[in-house]
Amino acid sequence: MQHTLKTATSTIEGVGLHTGATVALRILPAVPDTGIRFVRTDLRVVDSYVPAIYDAVDTSASRLCTMLRNATGVTVQTPEHLMAALAGCGIDNALIEINGPEVPLMDGSSKLFAEAILQAGRKIQPGSRAAIRILKPVQVVDGDKKAEFIPTERPLLEIDFSIEFPGLGSQRRQFVLDEPETFTSEIAPARTFTLRSIAEAMKARGAVKGGSLENALVLNDEDGTPYQGQFMNGWQDEPVRHKILDAVGDLALAGMPIYGRLVTERGGHALTNTLLRALFDRPDAFSIVRDIAGIPISGVEKRLAGAEAH
Ligand SMILES: [Zn+2]
Repeated sequence: MQHTLKTATSTIEGVGLHTGATVALRILPAVPDTGIRFVRTDLRVVDSYVPAIYDAVDTSASRLCTMLRNATGVTVQTPEHLMAALAGCGIDNALIEINGPEVPLMDGSSKLFAEAILQAGRKIQPGSRAAIRILKPVQVVDGDKKAEFIPTERPLLEIDFSIEFPGLGSQRRQFVLDEPETFTSEIAPARTFTLRSIAEAMKARGAVKGGSLENALVLNDEDGTPYQGQFMNGWQDEPVRHKILDAVGDLALAGMPIYGRLVTERGGHALTNTLLRALFDRPDAFSIVRDIAGIPISGVEKRLAGAEAH
C-alpha cells in the first residue's frame, strides 16, 4: 500500500545551510505513484518541478550536500533531511512547495519535518507499493570508504553504519526502518555534526553561509567533545545516528523503498549516491516487488511464483 499525507503540513520556514537563504516550504498530499516532487514557487519558468530521484542528483555538486536538478536546470539543494523524514514516516507520494533554492536546515536534524508530517497525518492510498528488493551484494569503494547492499530476509531497510573521525574516534550503529515511531524516536532528532576546524575553514572561504551553532553539532577536534555551549542530544553516538538519517534520505532518492541491508564504513552522501547508481547498473542484483495491503512481501512473491508455475 502507498501512503501520502492527509492534509498539507503547516508552513516550515528556516535558513538553508549552503546558500544562507531564508526559505519556506509546505508538504502537500499527492496522488498514487507520484513519488516525491518539489515545485519551486519562486520561479516563473516552464518547468519548475524537480523530482526527488537519484538520477536528478547533480553529482558534480554533491560532495558536501545533495543537489537535485531537473532537465531544464532548476535545482533544489540539501533535500536529504526532508527526504529522510518522508521515508522515515513512510510517505510515498508528496508534493513539496518551496519558495527558494535550498531546503532549510532547521535544527540540523529531521525532527521538525517528521513532526509536521505526522501532525498532518498519514493516509493509505489505493494501489500496490513498488519496492526494490536486493538480490545480490553490490559494493562500491572509494579509498578507505566503503558502501554495500546485501540481501535480507525481511522486507525492510536495514542500515549498519560506521564512522571514524579524529578526536571523535569510531562509532557504529545499526538501524531497521520499520514503523515511523522507531525513526522519529531513534534517528530523526540526530543533528548534523562537524569538527570545529572544518566548520571554521568552510566559514572562512564563504561556504555554509547558513551554518551556525543553532543548526549543527560542532565538536572539538582534540577529543570529539561538544564545542562550548553545545551538547549531545542525550546520545553519545548522535553523530553516527545522523549519518544513518542521511543514508535514509539518500536512499529515498531511489524513488521507492529498498528492502535490503546497507553496510557503510566512513561513507556519506556522495558514496551512497554512487552505490545507488551501481545498483541500477546491475539489473541482476535487484528486482522490483509489489506490496499488497496486509500481505507481507514474501507472501506476494510466493503467490506470484505459484501463479507462474501453473
Ligand atoms: Zn545530514
